[in-house]
Order: sequence, then C-alpha cells, then structure tokens
Amino acid sequence: MGKSDLSVLPRMDTLLASPALADSGLPRSAQKAGANQVLDQLRRALRAGETMVPPLTVLARQARRAAEELARPGLRRVVNATGVALHTNLGRAPLSPRAVRAVVQAAEGYSNLEYDLSAGRRGSRTGRVEELLRELTGAEGAFAVNNNAAAVLLMLSALTPGMGVAISRGELVEIGGSFRVPDVMARSGARLVEVGATNKTRLSDYEAVLESGEAQALLKVHPSNFKVVGFTQSVEVEELSALAGRYQVPLLCDLGSGALGPGPWPQDYPTVARWAAAADVVCFSGDKLLGGPQAGILVGRGEAVRRLKTDPLARALRLDKLSLAALEATLLDWRDGVPVPARAMLEAKPQDLRQRAEELAALLSPFCPCETVETAGEAGGGTLPGEELPSWAVALDPAEELEAYLRGWTTPILGRIHKGKLLLDVRTLLPGETDIIRDALAAWKGEQP
Ligand SMILES: *Cc1c(COP(=O)(O)O)cnc(C)c1O
Repeated sequence: MGKSDLSVLPRMDTLLASPALADSGLPRSAQKAGANQVLDQLRRALRAGETMVPPLTVLARQARRAAEELARPGLRRVVNATGVALHTNLGRAPLSPRAVRAVVQAAEGYSNLEYDLSAGRRGSRTGRVEELLRELTGAEGAFAVNNNAAAVLLMLSALTPGMGVAISRGELVEIGGSFRVPDVMARSGARLVEVGATNKTRLSDYEAVLESGEAQALLKVHPSNFKVVGFTQSVEVEELSALAGRYQVPLLCDLGSGALGPGPWPQDYPTVARWAAAADVVCFSGDKLLGGPQAGILVGRGEAVRRLKTDPLARALRLDKLSLAALEATLLDWRDGVPVPARAMLEAKPQDLRQRAEELAALLSPFCPCETVETAGEAGGGTLPGEELPSWAVALDPAEELEAYLRGWTTPILGRIHKGKLLLDVRTLLPGETDIIRDALAAWKGEQP
C-alpha cells in the first residue's frame, strides 16, 4: 500500500480564513479546535485509503459546527417533554421565578451569608431557612445540607454512632446512583439491625430488638421509589414514636420526598409535619416534591438538631450559598401559597393538558404529521411510585428521526418514543418552550428534500 497523499489536506490557515469560521463570532480558540477536529478526521480518512477531499466550504461548515459544539457549555438548558416533572437526569425541579431571582442576587455580588446585619457581626448561615422550616413544619429545630443522602449520613453519624439501629427489611431501599440505605448506615458507623420481613414488619419486631438490647435506635425510611402491594404490613411512624418513647431511644426518619402540605399527591402521603411530630429527626430532599434546589433538609427536636449542626461532618456537607438562596425563596413560595413549578406541573388537570396538547399540535402540524394522544405519566425522582398521572402529548412521526433531530437542537428537546411515535408530553413544558419546539420542527421541515 502506497503512502497516503496528505498534501491534498487544506492548510489550517486557509480553513480558518473561510467565512463560515472567520465570521462565526465564535471564540478564536473554539474556531481552531473545530478546524483541528475536521482536519484530524480528514487525515485519518486519507490514511485509511480515502481519496476524496470535500470542498473547502463544506469542511469549513463542518469545522464551524464542531467549533459551536466546543464553545457551548457542557451543562445546558433542555426542553423536558417527557412529562416526568421531577426527572433526576434532567435536574429534577425547575426553580420558581422567586428562587431564580434569589440565586442571581446571591451569585452576582456579596451577601450576608454568614453575617448578622443588625448585630454587625458573624451570623448563622442557615438561620432564615431554619426559621421558615420551623414555621412550615412545626418542628423545634431545622437544618439544611447538600442533599438528602448527606442528610441521612449526617443524621446517623451524629446521633447513632456505634449504635444498633433497627430498620424494617421492607425499608432497606436503594434510591439510585448506588445510594443504598445499608451502605450509608455502615459508613455512618451505625450498626444495621434488620427487623421483620420484606413485606411485613410488626411493632413487636422492633420491640424485640430493643428489649434484647440489640438495637438502641429506630430508623424509618419511606420507600419512596417503589410500592409493595398485596400481603403487606408496616408500622406507622406514630406507633414507632410511642415505642421509642417507652425505651427512651431516638427515632430517625428518612422521608425521601418531603411534602410540606396537601398537594397533588395521595391523601395519605406522609407530610413532613406529621413525621416531624413523631420523630426525633426527619430528613428529606429539597428538589423532590418540595420543588426547590438540591438540598437535604433536616427537621426535628431542638436538642437533636443542635447535635447535627455541631457535628464535624456538617461543615463537609454544608449547603452552598446559591442553593441556600434558592431554598429560602422556595420555602417563601410555600409559606405564601404560591405553587412552585414542579407542584403546578403535578397539579395540572387532564382537561387543561388536553387543550395545551391540541394547541401544540396545531402549531406543529404544518411541519410533520402529528396528533394528540392521552398518556400515563409519573412524577419521577423516586416520588409517588405507582401513581399514574394521566396526561396529554403530541405524537409525532417519523419518531426515531425526529427524536434524534430534536435532541440535537440548539436547545435540546427531549420526548419519548412510544409505539412508534415520538411523544411530546405537555405537562412538563415551561412558558416559551412551545416556540422552541416549533422553531426546531420548522428547521427540520426546511431540511427535508
Ligand atoms: C431520594 C431519596 C434519597 C436521596 O435524596 P437526594 O436528595 O437525591 O440525595 C434518600 N432517601 C430516600 C428515601 C429518597 O427517596
């Protein structure tokens, strides 16, 4: 095989000077990296025996696309048309306007993050959030850390180190991303004492290990991402509370997804206030049903919460100022009865969703075959398992091709393929996003032969 002829490769300078790149307005470093990528690819192709070299204008366009990709941030806004409001892969809860403003304010300048303005000296970082949490849950004490996994770790490390902690076999859950309750317990220094069976645990099961001295604390975990149906039994938090009181041992609870009050979830869905009234400490996520930023929230008895705050781990797990700003604003929304976006999405009525789907179908029908269909969605984020959320979507054709095209759009649009159609569920669309979808499909139509 003869040596490949690399002399046909355009020069870097020539490629960079072509209008598609030179006039792109992209940073020079991205232009160069894009041109490099295209030349590298071509060089490899020539070495592999390829003899055709595309015209310079085509190479320049390829280089520009590569440069655009390189200039773009890795973490990008996407349109969530999956219908899953708390989609863990898509960042769970979108923040409310109030929370967004709070984040911008905290980010743009300095803040009184740990400064008491009235006293003129160092102040508490989470003070205001603690006050709001106490007001909203009725708990004596409150604290917030980086996420709920951190909250569970802190709770067990600070309050039950070296102790036997009794937990129902039906609650030894894996939350996802390899967060398993038994592993976290092991890391915290607590000793797992399993009680009951997978489907049934009785109060007497807990009582037996307290009586024998095997366990010195109780842990209840809300199995938030699955549902056990059929021949089942578990012990309510109030019964555990009475038992913990009798044996003078702490009762700790991981509620997973904390609902601060009634909402678009089942009547018997445990609220934070209910569990907090019974337990020493309850922890839950900031970005599940609360609809705020990633955070782990802990509420409970004053003395227990004081021990959490002063534990050395608290500093390592602390909440950053941007999340803190967003969390405070989210709690203010809850206090003022303003539904945060995730809650509004979960609350949306099927007849309204149907109308929105019809409007979207009308907007998109000039560009591709589409029709409205009824769908069954879910809340996501490991919340409300087994609860179907009847919703409405626009079904597009051709599914595979449009799925890839929309996913590659400037603002990627993510739907799901179901029965050979690409479904765009309107439940999770935010204001202005239907225009993004229309523009993308208009561009797709323009590219069709
Ligand atoms: C989601 C969840 C967690 C983890 O919460 P993050 O905020 O994602 O860290 C822990 N426990 C339960 C029961 C959960 O549902």
